[in-house]
Amino acid sequence: MTDVTTDFQHILYEAPADHVARIVLNRPNARNAQDTKLLYELNAAFDRAAQDDNVKVVILAANGKDFSAGHDVHEDPRKVDMSPYDVVGTWCGFGCAGAEGQMAREKEIYIGFSERWRNFAKPTIAAVHGKCIAGGLMLVWPCDIIIASEDALFMDNTVNMGLAGAEFFNHPWELGVRKAKELLFTSGWWTAAEAHRLGMVNHVVPVDKLQEFSLELAKRIATQPLFALKCVKEAVNAAQDAAGRTSAMQVQFALHQLGHAHNMQVYGLLVDPTSSVAKLSKSVTYATKKEGSA
Ligand code: ZN
Repeated sequence: MTDVTTDFQHILYEAPADHVARIVLNRPNARNAQDTKLLYELNAAFDRAAQDDNVKVVILAANGKDFSAGHDVHEDPRKVDMSPYDVVGTWCGFGCAGAEGQMAREKEIYIGFSERWRNFAKPTIAAVHGKCIAGGLMLVWPCDIIIASEDALFMDNTVNMGLAGAEFFNHPWELGVRKAKELLFTSGWWTAAEAHRLGMVNHVVPVDKLQEFSLELAKRIATQPLFALKCVKEAVNAAQDAAGRTSAMQVQFALHQLGHAHNMQVYGLLVDPTSSVAKLSKSVTYATKKEGSA
């Protein structure tokens, strides 16, 4: 496998086969928690694949025990210096106080990036293993095809943290309305097998076959004409958007921001410190020291 990474710290960018790029979350000691640097590097990696005319298909995978523990809650959003990053949105206002600054950050690096990757023109395949929690779903769901290993576990625990679900609210489309409600209401886990049954996952494979299976599928897709692949992807996405996905997601994003503002007014924190996740933390600052995202 050719590693063509040159300038990323939390991401690997590889060329495992002709016309296939493989982007790997590579922050295993932090369970691939997503800090600002990781998300901008991931975005840059997607851009690199987009701009390389030789690339037809992108695989998104992860090193380490878990795919992703979610957003990195060790990073205090009020202290992030955004000057090193190539901002992609136009909302901005990252240094503003209160809800304005928080919404600016989440509009850029959470819903902004996930929606941008969902609209990435070329086919994308997520290869998921281990735990994939809340913000982790926001990396997987934007991909076109999801391959899960048998050990994969999924959860969105943001309701437990006093929020209306993770910021890229694709839950009803991925899980169906009733299971989306149950899993959000309970902040419960769902398995790879259940994700497959619900239609969220294309294939479930043994752990040791995950990368090989994903690469073989990518190579098969890469035999197709790229222009047709891009057009048919846009057509399927357009069907989903015509059914109201985008406008429904904007409603949820506003409610998610209301949750942060409410928690800030009541507790002085972005999340509810009485949640079971928050209680696991020794010192609740931004959110928690345990898994989960906000
Ligand atoms: Zn949030």
